[in-house]
Order: sequence, then C-alpha cells, then structure tokens
Amino acid sequence: MKEGTIEVTGKCSVCGIIGDPITHTLSPMIHNKLAFVANKEAIYIPFHVTSTGLKDAIKGAHALGIKGLNVTMPHKQELFHFVTHVDESAQKVGAINTLVYSEQGYIGYNTDYIGLKMSLEEEGVEWKDKNVAIIGSGGAAYAAYVSVAEEARSIHLFNRTARHAKALKEHMQSYFSTPAFVHEAGEDCSESLDIVIQTTRIGMGSYIGEMPSCTKAVLKEAKIAVDLIYHPEETQFLKYAKTRGCVCINGFGMLFYQAVEAFELMHHISCDKENTLKIKREILKYMEA
Ligand code: NAP
Repeated sequence: MKEGTIEVTGKCSVCGIIGDPITHTLSPMIHNKLAFVANKEAIYIPFHVTSTGLKDAIKGAHALGIKGLNVTMPHKQELFHFVTHVDESAQKVGAINTLVYSEQGYIGYNTDYIGLKMSLEEEGVEWKDKNVAIIGSGGAAYAAYVSVAEEARSIHLFNRTARHAKALKEHMQSYFSTPAFVHEAGEDCSESLDIVIQTTRIGMGSYIGEMPSCTKAVLKEAKIAVDLIYHPEETQFLKYAKTRGCVCINGFGMLFYQAVEAFELMHHISCDKENTLKIKREILKYMEA
C-alpha cells in the first residue's frame, strides 16, 4: 500500500497539523495514507505555528477553507479562544486537539481520549469495575482519565505535584461520579490497583532509562501497564512492568487512533477497519527502521 503521485485538482481538501515544534510529527504520514486508501482527494500538511502566530493562523486557515487541523504542543489549551463551538469531548479533556471546519468557524474536539480507549480495546484490556491508577496530571493524564472514568471502579492519581492532581480530580468531578483519590508522593495506596497508566514524560528524551518514583508501589498488584510514550518503544516503566508479569502497552496505539478519529471527523467518513490496520502496521515498520 504505497502512495503514488497525488493528483491535486481544485476539489482537493486540505487539512494539516499546527504545533511548535512540528518536524517530529507522524500525523501527515497517517492522514495521507488514510486519505489514499479511502480514495479521498485530500492532503495533510505540517505547519510550524508559534504561540504568537496562533490566532492569525486559525483565522487564515478558516479563510482559506482548510477543512481540518490537528493541534499539538503547546497550543491545545489556547485554542478554546479561537473556536466557534467546543464539543463535549474537548470540554471533558480540557484541551482541543482537532478542529473541524464549519462556515461559522472551527469546531473544537478532542480525539486523544478516544485514541487511548481504542488502543486499550484493541489490546483486549477491560477496565470496567477495575481500579485504575494514573501517574501524572498533565494534559495526557486528563485524556487518560476521560478514557476510563465512566466504567472504572475507581481512579487513583499519583503525581509529583499533588496540587495538579487535585485540580485534575476536581475538573473531572463535574463529569464523572467515579470515586477518585489523590495520593501524595511517597504515600502507599491500600487499594489493589489493576491497571496503571503512565502519562508523564519520564522515560523519554532527557529522561530515557528513568521511571516515575512511584512505579514499584503502584505496579505491586497490577496486571496491565500502559505508558503513553511510544518513543522509545519500551520505556523503563514498561521494562519494569514486564518483569512483574504485566501486559505492557505503549502509546503508539493512542497516537494512531486519535489520528484515525480526527480523520473521520474532518472528512465526515468512516475508515475501513482492515485498511486502517494495514496502515498501522506500515507506520510501525517505518518507526522501527
Ligand atoms: P505535560 O502536560 O507537560 O505533563 C507533564 C506531567 O509529567 C505532569 O504530571 C508533571 O508533573 C510530570 N512531570 C514532568 N516532569 C517530571 C519530573 N521530572 N518528575 C516527575 N514528574 C514529572 O505533558 P503531557 O502533554 O501530559 O504529555 C506527557 C507525556 O504523554 C509525553 O511523554 C507525551 O509524549 C505523551 N503523550 C502521548 C500521546 C499519545 O498519543 N501517545 C498523547 C499525548 C501525550 P507536575 O504536575 O509535578 O509538573
């Protein structure tokens, strides 16, 4: 399944991703492959947009009729000011990662939490009535919370800064009645935790080879360990979880399926499941090369 030359006519839909930095993004590859197999005349382009240029970029994109935009660091919160309507998905997560064109302006969605949900489902993870631990309380933790909160028995938050974990819990209590607990650093959890989702950046970049300090305590009884990092493929957190016999899942599935969901929203179509899986395998191969 290799793309040939794209024939761009006047009917071509243009979509893209904005962020700062942007060169590392895999989204153009995923979206352009999805468009190719869906036989859709569409292209998806990376745009380097800094915070100072964000407002003008969104206004300009709308004037140009750009059909959809994904938004990555550091703009996910800022976008609430520049959309005409915020979907409930983005309200719950507290961040917008997808803009879909409407004549009046862009509609803001969040597809990160669906990406994680779909990835967990694909791996056969069941979180209904389970005690779920989330390590971290940044943007990715908000998405992870929304992914599992409706069905989990309880949510346990572990974060370096307890105040951030308390803010996360408070925000989510307007949407979910699932009992949630904030554990201060070093505090043990008396509950047996079934699933642990690691959402901090510990394990990547300058933190390669490290794992969050609470790892050993939270993984004591866990059967499933999820790390939202996908580069490296196996973080120190997952390496340790493996020695404990956990089923280990990295963040690639989340990244991939948030893109699939965004593609469907931007183009108002449903992707073929088999083709989507083929693309997922191709991207994984590309990343391993
Ligand atoms: P963020 O908003 O900056 O959150 C960072 C979190 O990490 C906070 O909880 C912060 O704790 C914690 N943290 C940072 N440095 C730390 C340190 N030295 N020691 C302990 N805790 C530390 O970032 P984010 O947007 O949530 O992203 C976090 C990770 O998720 C990144 O690795 C990103 O690549 C990944 N991610 C993956 C996907 C995917 O599709 N797979 C999607 C989104 C994000 P404090 O509250 O104490 O500062």
